[in-house]
Amino acid sequence: MSTTKAFHRLLIVIVVLSLTLVFAGCSKKHKSSRGAASTGGGTGSGTGTGTGTGSGTGPNGTGDPGGAKSLDLTWAVQETASQADLEYMADKIKFYNEGLWEGTEGQAYLKDQTLVNGSSDGNVIVRVIKGPISNPPAACKTSGGGFQITLCSGQLPRQGFLHELGHGWVGPFYSEEYNCLNASEGVCVMAMMVGLSGEGYSKWCDPTTCVESQQCWNLMQSTHGWAHPGPGGAAPACNVTIQ
Ligand SMILES: [Zn+2]
Ligand SMILES: [Zn+2]
Repeated sequence: MSTTKAFHRLLIVIVVLSLTLVFAGCSKKHKSSRGAASTGGGTGSGTGTGTGTGSGTGPNGTGDPGGAKSLDLTWAVQETASQADLEYMADKIKFYNEGLWEGTEGQAYLKDQTLVNGSSDGNVIVRVIKGPISNPPAACKTSGGGFQITLCSGQLPRQGFLHELGHGWVGPFYSEEYNCLNASEGVCVMAMMVGLSGEGYSKWCDPTTCVESQQCWNLMQSTHGWAHPGPGGAAPACNVTIQ
């Protein structure tokens, strides 16, 4: 077994152990401040090092967003992180954006993101960028149409973020679908966060693929008016401003 596989197996075990704790009680006072005023650029990160820091998350998208819905989120890093780690996180957010685009079949994406160092006030809280996958790995609290996602680590696989965004916005789904997977491949990101397909899984189930009961695309279509299958195509750019 490769170390990558072993790592994924370990994550699966951790996630399974934590599933009962992850989404308990979805009430919270924090009001989402979605759309946190994009700053028009120019803050902070002009060090000349660029964002290609070797984190392996790939280049930013160049696709046409067309009529897709955009989400502008503030990502608060609770620790005081190094510039290198902030750039890793910026790349990770771009990777999450590709997953949201794929999962919604080209109908939603992360547009202007603000990554704030040493803060606990955001739509997405990242406890420690290079932190371990702890228990619980992530959570989503919703109230009054807003949501706040907490990630234990910026190393959380893409489907972990998509699962939480499913609860907060994509469905939004207020119940779990942990058993919506099969033996050879994942079916739905609302199933195990770290599914059998490893890093990068991005699909939500529909009536033809669901092996549990939620049939996620039914709700996604009625909430957002999306087509299924949607237009697809290459993911549009996700802009991350580090503060
Ligand atoms: Zn599903
Ligand atoms: Zn399902």
